[in-house]
Amino acid sequence: MPRLSEVIAALETLWPTERAESWDAVGTVVGDPDQEVSRVLFAVDPVQEIVDEAVQLGADLLVTHHPLYLRGTTTVAASTFKGRVVHTLVKNDIALHVAHTNADRADPGVSDALAGALDLRVVRPLIPDPTDPEGRRGLGRVCELDHPLTVRELAARAAERLPATAQGIRVAGDPEAQVRTIAVSGGSGDSLFDDVRAAGVDAFLTADLRHHPASEFMADRAHGPLALLDAAHWATEWPWCELAATQLDEISDRHGWGLRVHVSPTVTDPWTAHAASSHPSSTTRTRSASRVSSDTPGAPN
Ligand SMILES: [Zn+2]
Repeated sequence: MPRLSEVIAALETLWPTERAESWDAVGTVVGDPDQEVSRVLFAVDPVQEIVDEAVQLGADLLVTHHPLYLRGTTTVAASTFKGRVVHTLVKNDIALHVAHTNADRADPGVSDALAGALDLRVVRPLIPDPTDPEGRRGLGRVCELDHPLTVRELAARAAERLPATAQGIRVAGDPEAQVRTIAVSGGSGDSLFDDVRAAGVDAFLTADLRHHPASEFMADRAHGPLALLDAAHWATEWPWCELAATQLDEISDRHGWGLRVHVSPTVTDPWTAHAASSHPSSTTRTRSASRVSSDTPGAPN
């Protein structure tokens, strides 16, 4: 049975800490390097629900995409929700390791997993990492579709293939427009608009798009029509957990570790319900597309 230090060393080969953004907080948050590891759980968020699931499962290591503490703290008292997470982990001998922007930039990374879930062929990173001579690492991915789809069909595919959330998929643009090329970025994609325009793609799928950046982006027709698809932040990053679990399984097989690797099916998106608009006097430019939604309750597959 491997020790935590050996498993962490293996995870570091996939997502080296030094490849994270300077503002990020990645790496091991809780854990004794000498403790033995037999069961590992992957999840997006290090929240109490997930930690309780790790306890139930008998996991020795929880790997999450989002950091527990992004900024410094002066307390881990169990009266704070993050402190309670730390207490639960320590009391149950569960380590916590975070791979965030270092997993975003990796090859394969978070956006490769998102593209894979949607059956998109990755062509290149949206923003290549200049330190990668092969040009495969970086933020976001530019993808091609083997068979063009309309924006409506693409939104329906995203609603079907990404784990179900209350939000479903929001669409901006002509639902009947043809999509041959698409940029995807797991997590918040607001800051990537300039790169998406420069990439000359037909659509952009990401999460957390806000009114003003999206509105201005859609109003700028100089670069041709382009559709936006906005999914729940959690749903765009969850496919990475499956990819990461597969990667750790392969490492475990190679070393003969016999690790049991799990992916949490728990939806930790903060938005839990969705009411479709029905005001009698309102009209929307793309009402037909507004019905595309994955708000069917249920666990992700
Ligand atoms: Zn995220």
